Amino acid sequence: MTKKRLVMGNWKMHGSLDQNAQLLNQLIADLGNAHSQTDIVVCAPHPYLAQLQQLLSGSPIQWGAQNMSEHEAGAFTGEVSATMLKDFGCQWVLLGHSERRALYGETDTLVLAKTQAALQAGLTPVVCVGETEAEHEQNQTQSVILQQLQQLLELSPDLLRRLVIAYEPVWAIGTGKSASPEQAQSVHAYIRGLLQQAEAPNVRILYGGSVNPTNAADLFKMPDIDGALVGGASLKANDFLSIAAA
Ligand code: PGA
Repeated sequence: MTKKRLVMGNWKMHGSLDQNAQLLNQLIADLGNAHSQTDIVVCAPHPYLAQLQQLLSGSPIQWGAQNMSEHEAGAFTGEVSATMLKDFGCQWVLLGHSERRALYGETDTLVLAKTQAALQAGLTPVVCVGETEAEHEQNQTQSVILQQLQQLLELSPDLLRRLVIAYEPVWAIGTGKSASPEQAQSVHAYIRGLLQQAEAPNVRILYGGSVNPTNAADLFKMPDIDGALVGGASLKANDFLSIAAA
């Protein structure tokens, strides 16, 4: 089975109605045929999802959320459920981003519960994993990744095959210091091995962390890098499209 490459933008907590409209209109205008080889997705803060739904309807650019609740409904003030996202056409959701793990205390167990809720609602969860700089320096990358993925790998193969995994070394996020293609490939190959054992060898594995128009093509040459999760560079239409077309 050939996998379509996947390039996702993570806007994080950036944007405004005006800025988003400009960015999205430019993406649509300059998209060319980048989407023929690549699934292109932008993930925005919740208040702007309706704007994405409107502006991107009829366009090949897809859209998603950056977080959601593990609960279906109920007394959870401030939360947004998977079924709410799905209700108006959202298809994708980032889960377990390192910022959510580090700043909001998201554990592997919580990320698993959110993943299950997303799958149940029919969303495609993009589960983020990655080691910190200290863990990297102590050669703990594989054990950290294994820990982060272990419970997910126990999902039935049918469910697991509907996920995307994003490997984002924390030391590479927003630092301008991307992992080298070889460094990233070695971690992706490790993750691929885990997915193979779990009977889901074709799950797409994205690399994230300071991806830009200059380093994207070399990262994409690696056999187990199936695309990118792009933060800073996804806020500039030209940069994001160059990455998508790399
Ligand atoms: P960055 O962020 O591309 O700005 O490093 C990536 C991410 O956090 O997903």
